[in-house]
Amino acid sequence: MTTTTAPESQPFQAEVAELLHLMVHSVYSETDIFLRELISNASDACDKLRYEAIARPDLIADGAPPEIRIVPDKKAKTLAVVDSGIGMDRQELIDNLGTIARSGTKSFVARLSEAKDGANLIGQFGVGFYAAFMVAERIVVTSRHAGSDQVWVWSSSGGSGFEIAPADEDAAKRVARGTEIVLHLKKDAEKYLETYEIERIVRAYSDNIQFPIFLVPEEGEPRQINSASALWQRSKSELSDEDYKEAYRSIAGAFDEPAMTLHYRAEGRQSYAVLLFAPSTKPFDLFDQARKGKVKLYVRRVFIADDADLLPAYLRFIRGVIDSEDLPLNISREMLQNNPQLGQIRKAVTGRVIGELENLGEKEPEAFTKIWDAFGAVIKEGIWEDFERREKLLALSRFTTTSGEKRSLKQYVEDIKPNQTEIYYLVGDSIERLKSNPKLESAKARGIEVLLLTDPVDAFWTSAPIDFGGKPLKSLSQGDIDFSLIPLTEEKVDEKKDEAAVDEGMTIAVVKEALGDRVADVRASQRLTSSASCLVASGEARDRALERLLAQHDKGAVKKPILEINLRHPLVAAIAEAKDAAKDISFLLLEQAQILDGELPEDPAAFATRLNQLVLRGLKL
Ligand code: ADP
Ligand code: MG
Repeated sequence: MTTTTAPESQPFQAEVAELLHLMVHSVYSETDIFLRELISNASDACDKLRYEAIARPDLIADGAPPEIRIVPDKKAKTLAVVDSGIGMDRQELIDNLGTIARSGTKSFVARLSEAKDGANLIGQFGVGFYAAFMVAERIVVTSRHAGSDQVWVWSSSGGSGFEIAPADEDAAKRVARGTEIVLHLKKDAEKYLETYEIERIVRAYSDNIQFPIFLVPEEGEPRQINSASALWQRSKSELSDEDYKEAYRSIAGAFDEPAMTLHYRAEGRQSYAVLLFAPSTKPFDLFDQARKGKVKLYVRRVFIADDADLLPAYLRFIRGVIDSEDLPLNISREMLQNNPQLGQIRKAVTGRVIGELENLGEKEPEAFTKIWDAFGAVIKEGIWEDFERREKLLALSRFTTTSGEKRSLKQYVEDIKPNQTEIYYLVGDSIERLKSNPKLESAKARGIEVLLLTDPVDAFWTSAPIDFGGKPLKSLSQGDIDFSLIPLTEEKVDEKKDEAAVDEGMTIAVVKEALGDRVADVRASQRLTSSASCLVASGEARDRALERLLAQHDKGAVKKPILEINLRHPLVAAIAEAKDAAKDISFLLLEQAQILDGELPEDPAAFATRLNQLVLRGLKL
C-alpha cells in the first residue's frame, strides 16, 4: 500500500474556492445553520454505518452505537462535532470536501455569479459542509472509515486549497470510528461556545435527528439534547404544526415552510408509515437531470436509501420518509429497483399524494397555489408520462387563460360557451406574447376562453390526445378551427361583411403560386378577425410550438406550416389587383405571421427590402 506521510497540499475545485470565498466573507447574519449542516452530515454518516453493518456486522463489532457529540472548548476557542458513523478514508476526504458533488450546491454556485445578494441565497438553500466556513477560520477534519486502521486529517483555512495528512497517534486514538470536525471559531462566532446557544440551535433545527446528540460541556457530564425519536412513528394527535415544520426542515434540509404535510400509517397487506411534505419554494435543481426523488426509505427505523424512486419523477419535489415494517433489512440497492412490495407502496403512496393535492386545491386554494406555482411545471410532466393518472393530474392542473386568471379545467368546462365542443389552448414562450397572438382573435370575438400555456413541458403533454370532461383539447395553431356555431359577442366585429367582395379562389391561388414550397398550403382563416395572416400546423402534424422546441434540439425535420389568410383584411383583399406587387405582399403575409409567432423570417434582409418597396409604392400613390 502506498501512503503519503508528509502533509500534502491540494487545490480546491474552482467552484469550491468560489463558494468558500463567499462563506469566509459572508455577511449573512443567520450563521446558525452551519451546525445544522454538520449535524445532518453526522446523522447521514450514522445512517450509512447502520445500513452497511447489516451486511458487515464487524463494522460495529466494538459495540459503540452510532451517535453524535458536540464539544465546545472555550480555552482553545474550538467547537467540535464528532460522530461515530461511517467515516471517510483519504480519497473520500479529498473527493467529498474538495469538490462539489451535490447538485443543489452546484446550481447554487451557478446562481451566485448572477445574484446581487449571494448571502441571501445561503439561507434559502444551504450549502452543506462549506457553511462551516461562515463561523470558522480554520477547520480540521479527522476521520476513520469504519473498519479501517488508517486515520486521515483534512484541514483548510478556506483559501484556495486544503491539506491532507495521516493522523498522529493521539488523534488516531481519539477517533476510533467516524469523523471529528473541529472548528477554530472566528472572533465574532465565539457565542457558539455557549452551551445554551448550542442547545437552542439543536432544538430548533435538529431535534428530529434519530441518533442521540450529546452536548459535552467543559464541566459536568455529557447530556443528550435532542429527543431522537422517529417522528413519523408517532401518532398525529401528539404532534403540533410546529413539530411538523421542524421535522420538515430537518428531514428535507430545507429552510422554508411546508405547503402540504401528509402523515399516515398504512396497515393491511403491507404496513408502513408515511411522512411527506411539499415545499413552498422551488429548489434550484428542480429540472436538473441528476436530481432524484428526495423521499427516504427506512425499514423499521433503519435508513436504507434516499434514491429508491419511491415516487414518480413528476412528484420529485416531495420530501420526507417512508418507513416499511415488512421489507427485509438487508435489501440491497439493486433489489430496490424491482421489488414488488416497494412497487405496491409506490403506487399507493403516489395515489395518496395526488389525492391530498386535490383536497388542498379544494379546501386550501392558497396553499395549493403556492405548490402549483412552484411545481406545476413538474406535475404536468405526469400528464404525459402517467397515463393511468392522466385524468387526475389534468384535474389538478391550473392554467392561465385569456380570462386573466388561473383556472382549472373543471372551471373551464363549467363556463364553456353553448355549442363549444373543444377546449382551446395556445402554446408559446410568454403570456404577454400569447395574448397578442392573432390566432386568438376569432375566439376573443366569441368570448371563448383559451388556455395560454408557457411552460416548456406544455408543448409535450398537449401532443398526446387529451380530453377533459368529454371535451378534447385543441390547439389554436393546429388543424381546422370551426367556430361557426358559436355566436359572436363583440358587436363591432362583423365577420360576414365584405367577404363576398373578395375572390377567395383567385386570391389563394395567387399567394400559393408566389410562395411555392415555402408553405404546405394556403387557405382562408377562421381564426382571424383583424390580422392579415397566421401560420398553423396541419391537423396531423405536431403543434408549431413543439416543432420549434424540437428543432432547437435538432430533433426531427420541421414540417412546413399552413398559411392562413384573412380575406377581410385590406392587404389580402388588395392582392387580386396588385399585379406585380402580389408576390411581395404574399411574402409579407408569410413573414409577418412568422414574426407574430416569435420567429425570424428566413431571410430578414429580403423581408426588409420587400417591406420598404411596398411602403414606397404606397407613398407614391
Ligand atoms: P451533502 O451532505 O448534501 O452531500 P455536504 O457538503 O454537507 O453535502 O457534505 C459533502 C459530503 O461529505 C457528504 O455527502 C459526505 O459524503 C461527506 N461528509 C461530510 N461530513 C461527513 C461526516 N461527518 N461523515 C462522513 N462523511 C461526511
Ligand atoms: Mg450535508
